Amino acid sequence: MIPIKGLLLICCVAIAPPAWAQAPSAKEVDAVYPDAHALYLDVHQHPELSGHETQTAATLAADLRKAGYEVTEHVGGTGIVAILKNGAGPTIMLRTELDALPVEEKTGLPYASKVHTKDDAGHDVPVMHACGHDLHMASLLGTAEIMANSKSTWHGTLMLIGQPAEETIGGAEGMIRDGLFTHFPKPDVVVALHVGNELPSGMVSITPGIYNTNSDSIRITIYGKGGHGASPHTTVDPIVIAARTILALQTIVSREVKPGEMAIVTVGYIRAGTKNNIIPDEAEMGLTVRTFKQDVRKQVLAGITRIANAEAAAAGAPRPPTVDHYEGTDLVYNDPALAEHLRKPLEASLGKGNVVTGEPITPSEDFSFFVEQGVPGFYFSLGGAEPEKFAQAKASGTHLPSNHSPLFAPDVDPALHTGITAEVAVLRNLLNMSPEDLHKLAATPQP
Ligand SMILES: [Zn+2]
Ligand SMILES: [Zn+2]
Repeated sequence: MIPIKGLLLICCVAIAPPAWAQAPSAKEVDAVYPDAHALYLDVHQHPELSGHETQTAATLAADLRKAGYEVTEHVGGTGIVAILKNGAGPTIMLRTELDALPVEEKTGLPYASKVHTKDDAGHDVPVMHACGHDLHMASLLGTAEIMANSKSTWHGTLMLIGQPAEETIGGAEGMIRDGLFTHFPKPDVVVALHVGNELPSGMVSITPGIYNTNSDSIRITIYGKGGHGASPHTTVDPIVIAARTILALQTIVSREVKPGEMAIVTVGYIRAGTKNNIIPDEAEMGLTVRTFKQDVRKQVLAGITRIANAEAAAAGAPRPPTVDHYEGTDLVYNDPALAEHLRKPLEASLGKGNVVTGEPITPSEDFSFFVEQGVPGFYFSLGGAEPEKFAQAKASGTHLPSNHSPLFAPDVDPALHTGITAEVAVLRNLLNMSPEDLHKLAATPQP
């Protein structure tokens, strides 16, 4: 018996497919597609603003429970955590966002959102899934069902999360503060994808290393001395100070930052005054700042404060401006070795030509909070553009509507199939490794 057993073992080892070859079949994806697509249509038509994703979270939680997951709701607000344990092995987390945006949908699609709601300031606003988070949820559900249906293909713990408030930056931090990595198993790797029109549907792109930018939100309030518009000599005009400040801020990137380093300083709004013949007391402006490097980030933020103070002082303002850094998130960093490792299962499941290497992008994301807990991350891009429209736009040098546009409409059918296929391929690969091998592989600290 012993020699036969040995022979069998050798045979099994010889014919067992390598971990990277465990691509989900088209049949597996087709079987879960109706559920995933139904969830897409449901959440697309019922979008909710950041921090208010009550119905969205309840719907996704119910679907994941039905798929066999142990689901905890209200983690860090409206966040949900769904766990599927399947023996010894690593813990891998896959994340979707839950929130939509205050954008009026103008896609003309039969299932376009018509939702209006009150925002946190009490204003009536339209709501739309203009960033594609509905597609991420649908993809996660399809993936969840396949993983639950095929437990013989992997081992370990699968942890799926629905994160609130990504668009306002704070949902990831909220879930971590509420015990995401202490009440639940701390993952060995965290994974997420994002759909966009920068790539045709059917394709994904991976970006080893820096994926996007550090993002900082700054509010500057300039204090002047109000009075009659016809008696400027009795006032200190904060509008003129603001105008000078805005122009001087442009010199940070053009004159202070070393040429070749990435830095963006945008003044997105300015608010001051009520009437043409009144010089107001105050002027307020809001800035967004984007950088790749921490030292450049510090330099730019210091430059903003210095210039705001100096312009106010130059005008004889009664007091220095307040420079309020009210929001910030670090860039998303993809462990380079992990990203290169996962190229193989993605190529095996999508075709070699459908996996490309992407450049770092400038929009930001709070997925970085998960990575900063010491967990290697893999964040990749999912093509959402109709291939024909993508080719036309490229040929004519134009751009398809970007995420956050009222016209953003991903090519759902192929993109959702690809999203599910890619997620399952990545998860099955990682959930066939030992935690030790994963730690050895993804050992490059974030610079
Ligand atoms: Zn967004
Ligand atoms: Zn987004």
